[in-house]
Amino acid sequence: MEHAFDYASVDISTPYYIIDRAALRRNMEIHQQVQERTGCKILLALKAFSTWGVFKDMSPYLAGVAASSINEVLLGHEEFGKNIHLYSPAYSEEEIKTAIPLVDYIVFNSASQFDRFYPFIKASGRKIHCGYRINPEYSEVQMEIYNPCTNRSRFGMRVEVLDELDSLKGIDGFHFHTMCQQGSDVLARTLELVEERFSKYFKKLKWINFGGGHHITRRGYDVDRLCKIINTFREKYDLEVFLEPGESHVLNTGYLVATVLDVIENPTGIDVAVLDTSAAAHMPDVLEMPYTPEVIGARRVIESADMDMPLEEGRYKYIVGSKSCLSGDIIGEYLFRKPLKVGSRVVFSDMSQYTICKNTTFNGLKLPGIVSCDSDAADGSIRVIKEFHYDDFKKRLS
Ligand SMILES: *Cc1c(COP(=O)(O)O)cnc(C)c1O
Repeated sequence: MEHAFDYASVDISTPYYIIDRAALRRNMEIHQQVQERTGCKILLALKAFSTWGVFKDMSPYLAGVAASSINEVLLGHEEFGKNIHLYSPAYSEEEIKTAIPLVDYIVFNSASQFDRFYPFIKASGRKIHCGYRINPEYSEVQMEIYNPCTNRSRFGMRVEVLDELDSLKGIDGFHFHTMCQQGSDVLARTLELVEERFSKYFKKLKWINFGGGHHITRRGYDVDRLCKIINTFREKYDLEVFLEPGESHVLNTGYLVATVLDVIENPTGIDVAVLDTSAAAHMPDVLEMPYTPEVIGARRVIESADMDMPLEEGRYKYIVGSKSCLSGDIIGEYLFRKPLKVGSRVVFSDMSQYTICKNTTFNGLKLPGIVSCDSDAADGSIRVIKEFHYDDFKKRLS
């Protein structure tokens, strides 16, 4: 990818995340096209990305947010300002009472939760759409930690459970979320099962939410097929369709910039570069998923075998490790174009989703600053949104 400027050159201390608003706009335009071609509405799942400093670049294109907690509801209300859809596996009475004045859609995970809280919604006089999360018992997600359709799942109502209810009174929509970083082919197969099991109820509904996990902005994603699937579905059932991806909105829009603090030898012969960032604290999915993030100007060793890499590239091999004291806090093994030295900057790409909203001050590590830029602007339009200090660490503790 061509970069208009050097992400590593921002004059604040590392580590910092940098979000490219031009890349963000390009993703938003793809989502806008899907909405225009299908009439569906696309929400931002705040769980994946809640950096409100750039919401102004997103909200004009989207129908609203999908919140999964009261904090996300409040943030959506204050900073996004459109429709708020709320889903959580369970609500407390206090949460429901806080949510009712602010949200437009509430998805319930069970009939017991709906029965308990519907009276509060009715009493409020607000027109809130209530839905059930359904469990289609079909997910192609291989990793158990991301699969909501295992036998032990707590997510959504299986069709047998719905069949036992006396009525769907008060419910006007369904919601399912069974995908993760997947293509429209997976959606097509999932919908087949959803229709087979649940379409007998569709006449009673007004809307259906296809959840997140749609990797719409990934290169190679079949947007035409997605549009065809939604249009066919809408013609068949006359339901309003929502999508609520998180990752797709911010895919390939962010970087995490770190500095090499030391380079250490070890018996393997592969030097370890110790950075001023941490997978555990600043990019937890690297350890949780797990995966090795891409680095600008380097190749991941795991993939270099099947790449035709020019000889002059990637000759310098390093284990890239974190500043935390957790032994397993290793980011990955890379082949760098240039040798790493104390002070070298290392830029990890695709770092917007599930990082800034998920990081911690584990080990007392400094939270990365947040910077925005615009790679379409000649000067890069760099803006430091936030820097974190000792106070932020201390205030969360007591
Ligand atoms: C996590 C989540 C999303 C967003 O998923 P992505 O994989 O980031 O697209 C949407 N809806 C629900 C209910 C979720 O739990």
